[in-house]
Amino acid sequence: MSSSARLPSDAPSMKRPRRLLTQNREMRAIGVHNWSLPAWAGRLPDGRTYNTCPSAGICRHVCYARHGTYTWPAVRAKHMSNLRFVLDDLPGWEQAMLTELAAPKFRGSWVRIHDSGDFFNTAYLGSWLRIMRARPDTTFYAYTKEVRRFKTVVEPDPPENFLWVYSYGGTQDALLDPAVDRVADVFPDADAIHEAGWSSQEASDLLAVLGPHLVGIPANNIPHFVKKLAGRRFSEWQAEVDAHRRTRGDAAVRAITTAPSARRRNGPTPDEHAA
Ligand code: SF4
Repeated sequence: MSSSARLPSDAPSMKRPRRLLTQNREMRAIGVHNWSLPAWAGRLPDGRTYNTCPSAGICRHVCYARHGTYTWPAVRAKHMSNLRFVLDDLPGWEQAMLTELAAPKFRGSWVRIHDSGDFFNTAYLGSWLRIMRARPDTTFYAYTKEVRRFKTVVEPDPPENFLWVYSYGGTQDALLDPAVDRVADVFPDADAIHEAGWSSQEASDLLAVLGPHLVGIPANNIPHFVKKLAGRRFSEWQAEVDAHRRTRGDAAVRAITTAPSARRRNGPTPDEHAA
């Protein structure tokens, strides 16, 4: 990420979030708190570019977190302010998260890291690992496409209170082995999950890390997302793109994955951003 231009520290848009962890209705029902970053790539109000999902693949074309309530100005501003805190002062953010998690309400509770976004660099992941070890009475979980980073940094010595599931649809899908890894895949619908013999997490998001290790997620019923998915699983769509890239090159892949009008609307691809 670039980190050049800075706003004055007293500018309203630089205010740090008062609360780091939030709860939407769905998560409140299962006793989970959320930490969120803005999804995928973009530009902060001060001009810096970011990519919080550097290993996102086809998922970015149908990203739930770039749709609906996530695009509401207040929600987007909160996620941006979370990201700025991390980028501008990682040690200060780590301390603030530790302080917030010291509240009694977090003892015995769950935190989902990244309602949207991912562990975009190793220093940020390292902060989370220290936080987890310092707050053993809270259980943390995450979906991630940072397969290589996790296999190198987390898997050799994971905190006891951390559960994660690798999710398909990223540029590192080929590193996953569903025979040994806990994996999540997005399917066209609930029937497709059942037919494949996978287990749906629809009843509770916690099933993604507590249920059987092959985790099926029904696709969001958003018409233009459904059209793009075209009856495929994320893993199948990503495998098609990977195969195409091997034979035809990146330019051809961009042509088949994103229509020109969508590229103009969504801005540059992650490959075009400095992560
Ligand atoms: S990794 Fe998740 S949040 Fe990031 S672009 Fe993909 S679906 Fe969206």
